[in-house]
Amino acid sequence: MLPACSGSLIARSVLFKSTSPHIFPIIQFVRLFSQNATPKDAAAVVVGAGPAGIAVVGNLLGQIKGDGKIIWVDEQFQGGRINRFYREVPGNTAVKLLVDYAEALKPFQHILNTSNRPNAITALENLPQDGTCSLSYAGDMLNLLTAGLKQHPRIHTVQAKAQSAHLDPKTKSWTLATTTTHPPSVTAPLVVYCTGAFPTTTPLPPSSPPTIPLDTALTPSILSTTIPRGEPFTISVIGGSHSAILVLMNLYTLASTTHPLLRIKWFTRHPTLRYAVQKDGYIQYDNTGLKGRAAEFARTQLDGDVLLTSEAGKFITRIDCSGGKEKEWALFDKELKDCGGVIQAVGYTPAPIPEVRIGDGTEVVKLGKDARTGAFFAEGQERKRIGLFGAGIAFPEEVCTPEGEREYAVGMWKFMNFLKRVVPGWVEESRI
Ligand SMILES: Cc1cc2nc3c(=O)[nH]c(=O)nc-3n(C[C@H](O)[C@H](O)[C@H](O)COP(=O)(O)OP(=O)(O)OC[C@H]3O[C@@H](n4cnc5c(N)ncnc54)[C@H](O)[C@@H]3O)c2cc1C
Repeated sequence: MLPACSGSLIARSVLFKSTSPHIFPIIQFVRLFSQNATPKDAAAVVVGAGPAGIAVVGNLLGQIKGDGKIIWVDEQFQGGRINRFYREVPGNTAVKLLVDYAEALKPFQHILNTSNRPNAITALENLPQDGTCSLSYAGDMLNLLTAGLKQHPRIHTVQAKAQSAHLDPKTKSWTLATTTTHPPSVTAPLVVYCTGAFPTTTPLPPSSPPTIPLDTALTPSILSTTIPRGEPFTISVIGGSHSAILVLMNLYTLASTTHPLLRIKWFTRHPTLRYAVQKDGYIQYDNTGLKGRAAEFARTQLDGDVLLTSEAGKFITRIDCSGGKEKEWALFDKELKDCGGVIQAVGYTPAPIPEVRIGDGTEVVKLGKDARTGAFFAEGQERKRIGLFGAGIAFPEEVCTPEGEREYAVGMWKFMNFLKRVVPGWVEESRI
């Protein structure tokens, strides 16, 4: 049976900002000639080497026939934000799903079978499969797959930032320019953006203390040296989602051990929290509810009245920000003044995408996206496919829960599941 909200998923039009509307004329367009490939040899370009980009490259290898080359662009090739920033974060998905991700595709299986053991996948296999684990395990697994894919004869990596993509509608070929002139650009009929997302920040009253970046607050080894010890220090945390709870957990650990004079003000619009719940055959609030250690900490230390008597409640004071933006701003203005720092855990914003031009290239095109297939289209032309697609946390699949609620499917295994379903269609549409 179709879920109640399925009809609305077909073409959710979203507008995306490009990196810079003025940069195009000064980018030098030189076509990419890798050692053994001419530009026409590139069957696809993938931008981004996080969990989504890795999964896209693996799926394309299986779907593009013959010896079609894949150009893979990233500035780091370090497993995306999971490996770069979240190695000290407790994971929120079952270990088994990380193993499933790593074993989902033939090219991945080949990498695992030909890697020396013990390795990142054997480390995951040795953990209890139904439990969760530190994201350092996931980071190591992503590094292993990245290293293997980089060796693949059909994959050519470009370590650079992708700046713009230009479609020639006559040849149906994209030219992608990057920050490197060695090589600077590539042409292909299919381009995929897996460009990720970064922590959102919102304006705060002028009297607010300095912001401590969310990435720092999610890394206890750095957080502990950022916050002074041995003197009274109050820090504010804004937000009530998974990341906010992880930050509160890290701060509570410091306050109850090395930083006994640390106090925490917690600004939240929701005094009671939402949890992922295992139901018969599915997980309710799978994408919006708390999971893993964050859920456990929230239940036992923070939620509702629990905070009034819990150990964490000795250090954390909750400030109810419900009731609208004006009330919230007034509370920030009053309560942030005497704090030494503020951490915003208020969501994640898609990274700016490489700007997109079509045809004569005079104007940057505004894009919409079909959240069911991952296909971008020029705004107002949703039936016309252009060979540009998106995946990952920036462009997740929109799913409908059995309760009829719409959610974004964010998580490594969810990206993989989505891509296994849609990538054959991407390749077919692009006629590779
Ligand atoms: C705190 C937190 C915990 C999470 N925990 C889990 C978990 O336990 N399990 C799970 O499955 N998921 C988890 N996720 C969700 C998700 O898996 C991660 O957010 C993941 O990092 C998203 O992968 P991505 O590839 O979409 O983006 P990213 O990891 O952000 O990667 C994007 C990549 O694109 C590159 N890039 C961006 N723009 C350009 C450009 N113009 N040119 C070239 N390269 C570019 C970047 O360098 C980066 O390498 C978590 C998310 C957060 C925020």
